[in-house]
Amino acid sequence: MKEVILCKYGEVILKGANRSDFEARMMKQLRQRARRIGNFNIFYAQSTVFIEPLDEESMEKIDEMTYQAKHVFGFVGVTRAAACRKDISEICRVTKEYIPEKIKGFKTFKAEAKRSDKTFPLSSPEIAGEVGASVLEVAPNMKVDLYHPEIIVHAEIREKEAYVHAGQEKGAGGIPYGSSGRGLLMLSGGIDSPVAGFMMAKRGVQIEAIHFESFPYTSERAKEKVLSLAKILTEYTMRMRVHVVSLTHIQEMLRDNCDEDYFTLLLRRYMMAISLKIAKDYDCGAIITGESLGQVASQTMKAIAVTDSMANIPVYRPLIGMDKEEIIEISRKIGTFDTSVLPYEDCCTVFTPRHPRTRPEIEKVIAEENKLDFNALVEEAYATKQSIVVKQFGDNIVEG
Ligand code: ATP
Ligand code: MG
Repeated sequence: MKEVILCKYGEVILKGANRSDFEARMMKQLRQRARRIGNFNIFYAQSTVFIEPLDEESMEKIDEMTYQAKHVFGFVGVTRAAACRKDISEICRVTKEYIPEKIKGFKTFKAEAKRSDKTFPLSSPEIAGEVGASVLEVAPNMKVDLYHPEIIVHAEIREKEAYVHAGQEKGAGGIPYGSSGRGLLMLSGGIDSPVAGFMMAKRGVQIEAIHFESFPYTSERAKEKVLSLAKILTEYTMRMRVHVVSLTHIQEMLRDNCDEDYFTLLLRRYMMAISLKIAKDYDCGAIITGESLGQVASQTMKAIAVTDSMANIPVYRPLIGMDKEEIIEISRKIGTFDTSVLPYEDCCTVFTPRHPRTRPEIEKVIAEENKLDFNALVEEAYATKQSIVVKQFGDNIVEG
């Protein structure tokens, strides 16, 4: 019996003129992943992408391929299905062979059929009736419940073949990766920023990341942790460049010259200024952060305004209205949580003020900032940039 993967479009269906661009991106994402796994035929028809293993070996890797398909943005549903000839006796035979395993543990079901091939001799209700009867033949303890079934057995008569399955699982949703342009994610080792990156990637933003370190106040392991977080995100993005920039000298200069209460705010303005430069270099149309309103002293309305006032491109803060619990739920779902909570220091926790300003006056911040040569320090930090390409498949590559 031949098993295939059906990937069903989400919002992409609604796209008018851009639809073919969106489809091309999704297909490319699937093909790049498939190439790493085995030999698959991938094609689309009627708002569904079909993935067919082409040999025995690839057939055995269908779990792996399904996992990959579930990480491609743009698909709302990913379904494993048995494929067969468009013939009702074949469909019933395959139902009897394929479905028992899928409905194990359920007590009630209903069969549904869909015909996009209108030349098929049976109507949809007739097909559903035959398929339902086949299920009852091999699972006599199952009961039909047309109104509240625990599970639905589907038969789909498509252009090429017929498919039998027991319902779809969730896909990654969103819109195709890269279809919204590029953004620079400020990636710390915390819980929030990887989630922010994931959320914008899901809305089609290709992610470039920047991480600030403060070696030797922060350790090599802290940096490794950030690269591990990036690696987890590449399950969705395939690859991600992480720029690592040292803030050590800036932090020491701030410590030695500026009012401690303003320390975090000043540092955040430096981080923003350096990020803007890198955003420009890499053609990023927005900066992305994991800030959530009121979460810490530097994330009050006024404190955010202090860093925002520097930005000459939009700053996306997808978590701004979310509670920590909601953020954690997503971080668990995407698999970053366990890494995020590893206890390594972040540059923001080096020399933290005892009494950070939560309602800073911008004039006072600027007066403190003017005690140092802001632009020179930004240039100096920018020159420490090291860029690392993190890939889902294969080792990291250090660039230039
Ligand atoms: P996170 O969990 O993402 O670390 P946080 O709640 O600890 O966030 P802050 O430390 O105030 O909050 O940081 C706010 C945002 O600033 C982060 O979400 C991230 O986007 C950015 N940021 C903080 N530290 C760094 C860093 N070392 N490198 C890059 N970006 C950072
Ligand atoms: Mg943090």
